Amino acid sequence: MINLSAQPVQTNSTNIRQKNTQTWQKILSQSVTNPEELLKILGLNTDLLPGAIAGHQQFQVRVPHTYIARIEHGNSEDPLLRQVLPLGVELDNVAGFSTDPLGEQPKNSHRGILHKYNSRLILMPGQLCGINCRFCFRRHFPYEDNKLNKEEWQSAFDYIGNDTSLSEIILSGGDPLSQNDLRLAWIVEELAKIPHLKRLRVHTRMPIVIPQRVTDEMLSWLTGTRLQPIVVVHCNHPNEIDEDVVKAMNNMSSKGVQLLNQSTLLKGVNDSPEVLASLSDKLFSCGVMPYYLHLFDRVQGAAHFEVDEEQARKLIGEMSNLCSGYLVPKLARDNSGTQSKTIVAPLYRNKENQTEETTKLISTSNS
Ligand code: SF4
Repeated sequence: MINLSAQPVQTNSTNIRQKNTQTWQKILSQSVTNPEELLKILGLNTDLLPGAIAGHQQFQVRVPHTYIARIEHGNSEDPLLRQVLPLGVELDNVAGFSTDPLGEQPKNSHRGILHKYNSRLILMPGQLCGINCRFCFRRHFPYEDNKLNKEEWQSAFDYIGNDTSLSEIILSGGDPLSQNDLRLAWIVEELAKIPHLKRLRVHTRMPIVIPQRVTDEMLSWLTGTRLQPIVVVHCNHPNEIDEDVVKAMNNMSSKGVQLLNQSTLLKGVNDSPEVLASLSDKLFSCGVMPYYLHLFDRVQGAAHFEVDEEQARKLIGEMSNLCSGYLVPKLARDNSGTQSKTIVAPLYRNKENQTEETTKLISTSNS
C-alpha cells in the first residue's frame, strides 16, 4: 500500500512558486480554438473555412500563439500549418483506419493507466494538450473516462506499487505538462516512494509548442527525486525549433535531463530526406537525440497524412546519405498487441548499397 497522505498543495520539497507558472498558463489559455480566427491571423483564403469548420467539429482546433508565430503568413502549404488546420477530408471514412489504431482500449483496464509493455507503463495525469495535432492517434481517446479523483490516484499508485516488474513510469496523455507543477510534483513524489521504480519518463510536445513551459518549478520536480529523468519531446519539422525552444532544451539538459525526440512521418510535413536531416541536425545542436520516426498510426480522420512503408524506408536511406548515422532515428511501427515497437529500418541505406544483412532484417520485420 502506498502512502497517499501527502496532498498536492502540501508539497514542500520542490520549492514551487505558483506565480511564475502564469506565463505559460496564460499562453495556453489564450490559444486559438476557432478555425476562422486561425485563418484570419495567418491571412489565409476563406475558401478553406468550410473544411476547417467540418474538421473542427470532430476534433477541436487548438493552437497557441507561440506556435502560430512560426507559421508562414499566407502559405496554406506551410508544414506547421498542415499539422494544426482541420480539413474537410478528416470526415472521410477510410477503410483500414480506426478510432483506436493501436488497440489501446484493452490495455486501459485501470483508470488513468495504459499498461502496454513489460517493465513500464503510461500514467495519464491529465487530458489536455498544448496543441491539437490533426494526425494524433489518440484524437478519439476517451480521456474523460481517465480522469482520476483522490481515491483513484491512490488506486493507480497501488497498481504500480504492487507490480515489481515495473522500473519506469511514462507520464503521457494528453500532454502531462499541460498540468500545473503542484500536481505533477505531488505525483512524482508519490512515484519516487515506490522502491522498484528507477526512471521517470515524460512524453510531451509542450517544450516545442510552448517552450515557456520549461520553468524552474518544472525542473524542480523533474530532477528533484531519486528517479532518473527522461524527457521525450515530439518535434516533426525543423521550423518548429526557434530560439525559445533551443533555450528550453538547453535549460533541461543543463539540469541533467536526458532528452530524446520522437517524430511522426507525415505527408506534406516532413516526408523529405532534407527536412528530416535538418530536423535531426537542429535537435542535436540543442542537446536532443533523434530517437524514433514513427510510421503513421492509421487513425480515422487523418488518412491524408499517411506515407507508405516502402516510401518511408527509402526516405530513411536517403536521409542516411545526408547526415551522420547517430542522427538517423529508428523508423518504427507501433503494432497493436506486440511487446515493443517494430523497428522497420535501422540499417537500410538505399537500393544500390543495401547489404545482405539489411535485406534480411527488412524481410524479417515484414513477417
Ligand atoms: S500533443 Fe501529442 S497527444 Fe496532444 S494532440 Fe498532439 S500528438 Fe496528440
